[in-house]
Order: sequence, then C-alpha cells, then structure tokens
Amino acid sequence: MPANSPETPETLVIGAGLGGLSAAIHLAARGRKVHLLEKNDRPGGKCHVFERDGFRFDTGPSVLTMPFVLDELFAAAGEKTADHLTIEPVEPACRYFFSDGTRFDAPGNQKDFLAAIAREFPDDAVGAEKFFAYTARLWEVSEPFFLSAPLDWRVLRKARPRHLRGGLAMMKPGSLHRVVRSYFRDPRLIQLFDRFATYNGSDPYRTPPAFNVISHVEFTFGSWRVRGGMYTLVEEITALARRLGVQMTFNASVEKILFAPNRATGVRVNGETIPAKGVVVNPDAISAWTRPLLEEHPQYQKRKKTLARQEASSSGFVLLLALKKQFPRLDRHNIFFPENYRHEFTQLFRDQCPLNNPTLYLSRLTDDPAEGLVPPGHEGWFVLANAPARPEASRWKNYEDTLLHLLEQKIPEFSAQRDILWQEVRSPNDFQERFGAWKGSLYGASSNNFFAAFQRIRNADTIPNLAFAGGSAHPGGGIPLVLRSGQMAANSLIN
Ligand SMILES: Cc1cc2nc3c(=O)[nH]c(=O)nc-3n(C[C@H](O)[C@H](O)[C@H](O)COP(=O)(O)OP(=O)(O)OC[C@H]3O[C@@H](n4cnc5c(N)ncnc54)[C@H](O)[C@@H]3O)c2cc1C
Repeated sequence: MPANSPETPETLVIGAGLGGLSAAIHLAARGRKVHLLEKNDRPGGKCHVFERDGFRFDTGPSVLTMPFVLDELFAAAGEKTADHLTIEPVEPACRYFFSDGTRFDAPGNQKDFLAAIAREFPDDAVGAEKFFAYTARLWEVSEPFFLSAPLDWRVLRKARPRHLRGGLAMMKPGSLHRVVRSYFRDPRLIQLFDRFATYNGSDPYRTPPAFNVISHVEFTFGSWRVRGGMYTLVEEITALARRLGVQMTFNASVEKILFAPNRATGVRVNGETIPAKGVVVNPDAISAWTRPLLEEHPQYQKRKKTLARQEASSSGFVLLLALKKQFPRLDRHNIFFPENYRHEFTQLFRDQCPLNNPTLYLSRLTDDPAEGLVPPGHEGWFVLANAPARPEASRWKNYEDTLLHLLEQKIPEFSAQRDILWQEVRSPNDFQERFGAWKGSLYGASSNNFFAAFQRIRNADTIPNLAFAGGSAHPGGGIPLVLRSGQMAANSLIN
C-alpha cells in the first residue's frame, strides 16, 4: 500500500490485548482510521479463554475492579456497558482460608467489611477504620494525578491544598507491609491486606506504601464479575471496536516498527510494509525494547540496556481443572494462604524458583444453566499460584503436581485422582510465547521500589507518532488500568 494513498490507515495498533483494543476504540471514536494487527488468531491477549467438552475457562483475569472505567470506554463510543454486558458484584469478594484452619469471608464493600471485622476481629475494628481513611487519602491523589493522567510532572500544577493530605499519606516511609502492620494486629488481617501488592505483581515487603490504594479500590468500588466469563468482556469490546470501523487482522505478528529517522512511519508484518501516521504498541513495552520490534529505532541499544536491568514483576502458574463433582464449601473466589508469607516472596523475587508452598487463588465455575460455563453436575477450578518471572519451560515441568498435592491438603474433600476429568496448565513460558510477556511476567517491571511507578514506560514516549498502551506502560497492569492506558496512548496521538 503506497504511503498517502486513500487507503493509508491513519493509525496502526499493534496487539489486541485490552490496552490495544481500548486505544483503537478511543482513536476510532475520535474519527481516526484504525487498523489493528494481532499476532494470535483471536483478541484478548492475557485475557484469554480455553474451551473444551462444554467447559469455558478464562485463563487470565477473573476479578474486575473499577467497573466505571469500562463505562468510560463504552461512553467514549456513545454506548452503554449495560446494553452489552452484565456486570455483577461478587459477594463475598473472597473467602480466605488461613494456615491455622480459620476462614474469613471478606465482603466486597467497606461498610460490610468493617462490620465483619468488628464481629470477627474486634481488636482490629478501630485500626480497620483508620486504615480505610488512610487508603481513601491515597486514592484522592492517585486517581487524578496518576491513574487518569499521563506520567508528566506538569499534571501536579492542578494540585490544590486539599490534595496535600493525600500527598503526605503517600510519603509514608517503609513498605506496604510495614504500614499495614501499623494499623492491624491480627496476622491474618495483615496477610489479607499484604496480598493486594500481588495485584500488580509486587512484593508487599518491598513495594511502597502508596500501593495500599489497591485495598481502597477493592473495598470501595467492589469486586465484580462478568456474566459469561471475563472473555465475554473481550468479545464485547472487540465488537464495539468493529462497530466503530476498526479494521482487524489476526495472525499478523509485527516484526518491526519503521522509523524515519526518529519518527514512527509504519510497520513490517508478514513480509509487507504498512505505512502509518501513528503507531500504538500494545505488546509488553519492555519486550518491545529488548526484542526486535523496536530494533530500528536509533535509541534501541541504549534503551535495551537500561530496561533489561529492571526487576520483572511476578508471573503466575495457572491450573485449569475440569471436575466431575461439586465443592459447595468453596465460594466463587477463594484464597488459601501459606503459613510463611515472607518466605513466599523471598522465593518469588530473590531465589526465583518455583514456590513449594505458594498462596493459591481458586476461582470456581459452577453449573449455572443460564451461563453454561460448565456441564450440569460439574465444576471448574481456575487455580493461580504466584510464580517467578522465569520463562524457561524446563522449570515448570510437572509443577502442576506440586499444586495438586497442595490442593488435596487444603481441600480434604478433593482427590486429584478421583475428581479430575481433565486438566490444562499455563506457565510463565506460555505468557512469554503466546503474548510476548517480558520474561513471562504479568505486569512488566515490578513496583518494588519507590520510583518504579514513575519509571514505567510513558504512553507518549519521546518518539513522534509512537505511543505505548498496556500493563507494562503507564499507569500499570490490571483491566481498568490497561483500559486507561489505551485511552492515554490514543490521546497522545490525537492531541
Ligand atoms: C493469570 C492472570 C490472571 C490475571 N488476573 C487479573 C485479574 O483478576 N484482574 C485484573 O484486572 N487483571 C488481571 N490480570 C492482568 C490482566 O490480564 C492484564 O493486565 C491485561 O489483560 C493486559 O493487557 P495488555 O493491554 O497489557 O495486553 P496483553 O494482554 O499483554 O496483550 C498484548 C497483545 O499483543 C499481542 N502481540 C505481542 N507481540 C505482538 C506482535 N509483534 N505483533 C502483533 N501482536 C503482538 C499479543 O499476542 C497480545 O494479544 C491477570 C493476568 C493473568 C495472566
């Protein structure tokens, strides 16, 4: 296709992950002609699906937070989420099983959560209220200056005296864990709140206290699910992009982005050159800078060296179990904690070896006939264990056996040999090979130091006509943040 021909797409979006789809929608909604190129045969990226014998498993996200961000996306296209998707609150947000044999159903809203704490952890009732007041202050500054604004110090010009309290809350010294510990006494509650560091693949003992804002998000805006499974979200967002006229090509692995000399001018894909007036990069941004995608850029060698030194966020090992029977003792979302949480993060980030006793997250699919996610009388388990960002396939050989053994210990009514119809795994190797995740990590670089959040790759880099959207770029990983990332990337190419 010759440059400047009437068919020349204005903007190319590389990757149909949620960040890429969001960028495509925001661009198309503002009149841009958009062509999206995806290396796999279907959209969604890490938000993927696996279907077999009447079971439909999500292989990525199962928890939706900040659902209003989804509304923002549909509204940008003049539509309403509710006309296309049924989003339901999950109550309780999670059933926690602790290593001492006790369990706690955590409500997904602050009022009920505080009431449950007053009932079950009375010594921590006052601390919990103070903690939520603190996390609310963190939200007051994170939302306007970080989560909905580009990474640019100039946004601080909009700061008003009322933001000062939030700014001070943000400056608390130490780690997320240290601050949690200063509000709570019961080790089980400390473990519960420490866990939110893993929502962006970080270590609660090192990540800065500001990430306690994730607790505010979960307990103020709730934990949600999509009827039909999370992949339904991808299907509907893809349909929205198509309604706006976004052209999509699958099985199109972009080899290189082209520059002249510093300005992005197009891409090379399947041996063909496609010119463009703007390019959005949705694949993992660190992979893009350390693998051939950005190799033609004059700063490639320099950037590659700097970025390769960063610490990767954690990855995950996923086990999908199609089961012959049902387990009513479990709730929709369940967490099984190990006794020694600190050891889990030492293994994860320092030793970087498969964990022998990881926290297990188990999301349970039941046989609701209206949803049809599993055949009648059956059940599906999505089990996720924290795993180091080590993509070597040999590391993960037979690791599922370790997890099955742990599940049998934690759920005595479960026997792997008796109850499993079939099983399927996804390892850090899969995340690297299928979606180009850097070292198989789920969120790009870790946020294990104070400056990490400010060092993420900016949506609008210094390179003209090039923008980054996705979990390894600003403002970070997780569904709502990557949708916002796509929006900021689109804005940077339009403004
Ligand atoms: C197991 C798991 C559990 C998770 N749980 C949750 C959860 O409960 N809640 C939550 O909010 N988040 C969760 N997440 C995180 C969330 O899924 C991600 O942050 C989000 O989906 C990432 O979107 P992204 O836009 O960064 O793109 P990605 O999903 O990384 O997609 C990038 C796309 O680019 C494509 N691509 C790569 N290279 C090329 C190329 N050269 N040419 C063309 N295309 C290319 C890839 O194939 C992929 O489709 C989870 C993730 C995983 C893996």
